[in-house]
Amino acid sequence: MDFELNDQQRLFQRTLREFVDKEIVPVASEWERSGRHPAEIIERFAQLGLFGIAIPERYGGLDLDRVSFSLVFEEIARGWMGVAGVLGSHSLSSWMIARYGTEEQRLRHLPDLATGARRTGIALTEPGAGTDLQGIATRAVRDGDHYVVNGTKTWITNARHADPLPVLVKTSAETPAHRGMSVLLVDAGTDGFTIGRDLPKLGYKGTETCEVVLDDVRVPASALLGGVEGRGMQQVLSAMELGRVNVAARAVGVAQCAYEAALGYSRQRQAFGQPIADFQAIQLKLADMATEIQAARLMTYWAASRSEAGPVRAEAAMAKYFASEVALKTTMEAMRVHGGYGYSQEFVVERLYRDAPLMAIGEGTNDVQRLVIARSLIAGDTVLGW
Ligand SMILES: Cc1cc2nc3c(=O)[nH]c(=O)nc-3n(C[C@H](O)[C@H](O)[C@H](O)COP(=O)(O)OP(=O)(O)OC[C@H]3O[C@@H](n4cnc5c(N)ncnc54)[C@H](O)[C@@H]3O)c2cc1C
Repeated sequence: MDFELNDQQRLFQRTLREFVDKEIVPVASEWERSGRHPAEIIERFAQLGLFGIAIPERYGGLDLDRVSFSLVFEEIARGWMGVAGVLGSHSLSSWMIARYGTEEQRLRHLPDLATGARRTGIALTEPGAGTDLQGIATRAVRDGDHYVVNGTKTWITNARHADPLPVLVKTSAETPAHRGMSVLLVDAGTDGFTIGRDLPKLGYKGTETCEVVLDDVRVPASALLGGVEGRGMQQVLSAMELGRVNVAARAVGVAQCAYEAALGYSRQRQAFGQPIADFQAIQLKLADMATEIQAARLMTYWAASRSEAGPVRAEAAMAKYFASEVALKTTMEAMRVHGGYGYSQEFVVERLYRDAPLMAIGEGTNDVQRLVIARSLIAGDTVLGW
């Protein structure tokens, strides 16, 4: 058991940290307040090869080990969680295409997705179904060598820039429902495929989140992910394990930023003739924050590293659940340490406080993570290596 990053991971972390400190931290709060699209940051992600982190080298990607993959999201979220989503959904989907796509689908999409020349996301959620994905209403009906797709998706990150957009559909009414579900890789610009309004959000503002309407969209059968109907639910659930590691890492980054802000503020803010860091009440908060962040970080790296070897259903759920709760708690505590200034848009903790709750919702709510963990425990899975 080794609790240290290896030399390569440490160097990669340092490179990411310098990039984030120089190019994201200075602009994050102002750009999020003004609603500015972070085009320059996205361009830099492309230059650094970050769109290819979950894509094998033979298709032009970086094919990072999973701990390094987590470092990308931890460091970027430490600077601005809002832009981490641009890479998050893209990575999950590009991994899914690499893992489950036919060779033709891989060759068609992955080289461009690896460079960021094209980007992607994933369309699962509908107005009437989020957690209950088996309850989706989007249908794909076979018509010769095409599918005709009708339905509406909502809360779709990156939809406006996605080409292709993997869309979860029902291809048959088979029961149980998950056997009748498939993923179609829908090309941008296909007739009847419309990106609707941007959804107004509490935080997560560097990433666009939209409605998607599919109205008699004709999708070639060759766009069926993996070429076989009925595998969609399994493909999506396994990609979501990677998604949960990514969300856990983002939560660690947000919590780390909140802690650093609280520590810095407590050293310089004076009350009763001394820095507030001298008060035990503040020290206890700092100690709790640092301890919980470290636990969340270790759990995230543990799930990430185990995912190299196979499925990590419970591990990824534990990491995502724990780290996102730590992010919620830490951002609130950092706000308390800042007193009234923590409520000001001129201090970073206000943004962190708005960004943190998404990690408790996205990639499955935390209650759902607890159910996933419980199911593994009851089934007798030895996930913990105890
Ligand atoms: C900013 C943002 C970005 C997003 N990006 C994407 C994206 O790119 N692609 C995408 O497909 N989706 C995306 N989503 C949607 C997200 O994945 C869903 O919101 C999430 O899965 C929850 O689904 P829901 O909102 O329909 O809530 P619901 O499923 O309606 O849940 C409501 C409440 O009921 C609880 N609940 C539901 N079922 C159970 C159960 N069986 N047992 C116990 N409790 C239960 C939930 O925990 C929750 O508390 C995004 C959401 C947001 C806010």
